[in-house]
Amino acid sequence: MERIVLDARAKLNLSLDVLRRREDNYHEMLMVMQDVDIYDTISIEKTDTGRIRLMTNVDFLPTDERNLASRAADAFYKAAGIPVEGINIKIHKRIPVAAGLAGGSTDAAGVLKALNTLHDTGMTTEELCRLGKTLGADVPYCILGGTALAEGIGEILTPLPTLPDCTFVLAHPSVAVSTKYVFQRLDLSRVKYRPDTKGMKQALEKGDLGGVARRMLNVLEPITSANHKIIGELENIMLDFGALGAAMSGSGPSVFAIFSDEKKAEECAAELKKRVNDVFIVPHKKK
Ligand code: ATP
Repeated sequence: MERIVLDARAKLNLSLDVLRRREDNYHEMLMVMQDVDIYDTISIEKTDTGRIRLMTNVDFLPTDERNLASRAADAFYKAAGIPVEGINIKIHKRIPVAAGLAGGSTDAAGVLKALNTLHDTGMTTEELCRLGKTLGADVPYCILGGTALAEGIGEILTPLPTLPDCTFVLAHPSVAVSTKYVFQRLDLSRVKYRPDTKGMKQALEKGDLGGVARRMLNVLEPITSANHKIIGELENIMLDFGALGAAMSGSGPSVFAIFSDEKKAEECAAELKKRVNDVFIVPHKKK
């Protein structure tokens, strides 16, 4: 095989809880993860340059080792013990950058999976996840995808029953959010509302879309939305237009809602577009 093309999907946090700060300063997380059909396309072709070269369509993204996809390729060759004869990685980004949608992590996951196939290295999903964890806490989930419970720093994954059919509406306000700042500001003794993760798991087991949507909650949202009122405003529009639930993803600033009615989702998206440029309507089908 000389060339491979694959899609790397974005993730949403249906719920996000932070249980405690560990001594190593990482946080113990409890999250329900869901992938969505917003994706970057990664194509990798073999060359004879002896180098890992990366190109993207986003001019402000680094293309050297600061890009997680490039680091993933480097880590792959080291772990597989294969000499680098040369590859060109092209990433067509559609996932908004630094948006709480794991764009960098999913590109890294995509590169690991693609290189495993391209070089026929036969690494198992577990081995790829172990390698992915060295690149970032969300990378193992991005390798696995689907609906899953994420614990530990996000790398301990348990698949959950797939979310029932629905339509997601996602809005990405163009405000800058630093994940580091959000976690630094998080005072766990003052968290007022935590997601009912157990209830959400039960709702998934019953195939109860409304039960899942009503329980969507992110403990990081009060911190990010205190600085960016637009987050609450977008959620209110979503709920006014008939969303079953709305929440922020990751450390933000992306906000998403679940609709059971596609027409309401479209009407909502049209209203959101008056406020922000990046709005997605994303149908979700239970596989
Ligand atoms: P998460 O939800 O995991 O916190 P995010 O969606 O908030 O992630 P990313 O889109 O992954 O954020 O981008 C975070 C930072 O990572 C950006 O500032 C960007 O410069 C850097 N980065 C490195 N590689 C990539 C990549 N392939 N795609 C996007 N961002 C990347």
